[in-house]
Amino acid sequence: MDRDGLILKARELDLADLPRIDSHLHTSWTDGEASVDAVYQAAVACGLATVLYSEHSRKTSVDWFPSFAAQVRALPQTPCKAYVGTEVKVESRDGDIDTIPAISELCDFVMASVHRFIGSDGRTLQFEQTDPDAAIDLEFDLSWAVLANPQVDILGHMFGMSYRRFKRVPPDDRIRPLIARAAEYGVAVEVNSYYHPNPYRMIEWCREFDAFITFGSNAHSLAEVGAITRLLERQAKNA
Ligand SMILES: [Zn+2]
Ligand SMILES: [Zn+2]
Repeated sequence: MDRDGLILKARELDLADLPRIDSHLHTSWTDGEASVDAVYQAAVACGLATVLYSEHSRKTSVDWFPSFAAQVRALPQTPCKAYVGTEVKVESRDGDIDTIPAISELCDFVMASVHRFIGSDGRTLQFEQTDPDAAIDLEFDLSWAVLANPQVDILGHMFGMSYRRFKRVPPDDRIRPLIARAAEYGVAVEVNSYYHPNPYRMIEWCREFDAFITFGSNAHSLAEVGAITRLLERQAKNA
């Protein structure tokens, strides 16, 4: 089973010939360096078959988001299929996300990511207020909640804040339940070359639970477009 070439069943992947997907691209509409067109040219140049422009947005992004979406829709369909998406933050411990229908309805796929932690009192925590040893549990709780949100197609960079910002490695017994829950709710797990120290291991976990999966680079520059594909190919060669 395959959702538009972007989201796949992990168990159906051919590990020797992984699909050339990048579902995590940013452009100069937000904090990326390059235009939608330039990112597309880079995707074609590195042989990607399917991409998702997962532009950052929030509820207040209605003034520009339709123009961004129209640019992506105007791209050629071949040799690379481009989808409109958005990466939005988890904004409550109940799994609410920072979007509104005027934005999400323009998207083919909605990616939810944990970007800020929220304490048990419901208040957003600044990173410097966060005990690094609490990061894994805080990130787990928000991820757990958002997986049940029916608006969410993809969970972006699972445990990315713990790995990258707090240099904490989540134990297997925190990762496995999240992947099982993603599989239960049909939310794709994004395996990310920037945030995940071992993307191949994430693929194995997704296969264990027969989760949906997609691959992303968190690209903010042209050089990073397709980084996940190159990393997985290197990992496969060394395996
Ligand atoms: Zn993110
Ligand atoms: Zn991102």
